[in-house]
Amino acid sequence: MAAEDPTDDEVRAALDAFLKRGGKGRPGPSPTDFVLTRVHLLEGTVTRSVEDRTEETRHRPGTVDLSQRPLYEVLDDYKLGPHETPLDQPLDLVRRGTVHARSCDCGNGRRRCADCNGMTYRPCEPAQVCAQCQGVTACTQYLKHGGLPGTPPRPPKQGRPIRPEERVTCEGCHSPDSACPGCRGWGKVRCTDCEAPGRIPCTPCGRTGTVRCATCAGHGHLTSWTAGRIKWTSSAEAVTSPVPRPRRVATELDSGGWHQDRLGDGPLPDDLSPGHRDALAPYLRRRKRETARQVSIQRLTVVKATPSASGNQEFYVFRNTEGRLDVVRRLSEEGRWKASLAVAALVALAVLVLVLILTL
Ligand SMILES: [Zn+2]
Ligand SMILES: [Zn+2]
Ligand SMILES: [Zn+2]
Ligand SMILES: [Zn+2]
Ligand SMILES: [Zn+2]
Repeated sequence: MAAEDPTDDEVRAALDAFLKRGGKGRPGPSPTDFVLTRVHLLEGTVTRSVEDRTEETRHRPGTVDLSQRPLYEVLDDYKLGPHETPLDQPLDLVRRGTVHARSCDCGNGRRRCADCNGMTYRPCEPAQVCAQCQGVTACTQYLKHGGLPGTPPRPPKQGRPIRPEERVTCEGCHSPDSACPGCRGWGKVRCTDCEAPGRIPCTPCGRTGTVRCATCAGHGHLTSWTAGRIKWTSSAEAVTSPVPRPRRVATELDSGGWHQDRLGDGPLPDDLSPGHRDALAPYLRRRKRETARQVSIQRLTVVKATPSASGNQEFYVFRNTEGRLDVVRRLSEEGRWKASLAVAALVALAVLVLVLILTL
């Protein structure tokens, strides 16, 4: 923790030491020439817990044991016990007299299988078009097929020819060397999915036609009750300083010797300035259903030192964590402007020289 705000004398002494250290042979401004302006920073966080109470009707499959849950009559009247702090986990309660079992509309815990619609199987084509002849060139003697049955009662298995162009005896018209070896003249082969019966056993229901009811998880009944829930949600709000950090040293101030106050829910520190008190006021307003809060603030004074004579530089003085004063030197706005003008002049000169060389 750092000491109180630095006095003008302290600041000037720190500036003097800083300039003596780094300014050998370089005539710098004397510390008395500086104009000092103070920036009083105030930052912090307000972390509050807000309570939420909700009520809803719940249904759960089967018989549910709710005997461990606290009972209530009116949720808003329920007083939390000393060990009931529902910050990480919500507190679940049961409204008195609302627990009852009711039967599920499935009746017995099972419902018709949606995949097979209760049929126990899925229909399938018994026969498929022969892949070798596409059913077109099944038999060279197709004229002899007039009046003969088109497909056998059980389609033939897909044949495996050694030479696809080889012809076999047709099973339809019995002509030798006339039929496709894949289907032996039929144009169709047995379906490989169902092996011809035209139905595939349904797996989701295990060929029973019914599946476990999802509503009651197979119990055939449900437990219903009015469920109350109390939950605390914690959220942190950052306090933004009424005056912002000086931009040039904004990150350097992270390692400054801030004066920290962890106030919890207690009163504000006595030494807090009226300006800072006003700045904090909107953050400290009680929220609706607020149950607890933690306020922590940090303060730091930054002194900006501007040399009254040359305006190229500026200095920022603030306490470090050991309580000593740190000095940070920065190019001022005016200094930056002059520097960019100098760069522009150099560029113009270079261009001029280049033009002269080229025209010669
Ligand atoms: Zn099924
Ligand atoms: Zn099939
Ligand atoms: Zn034939
Ligand atoms: Zn064929
Ligand atoms: Zn059910």
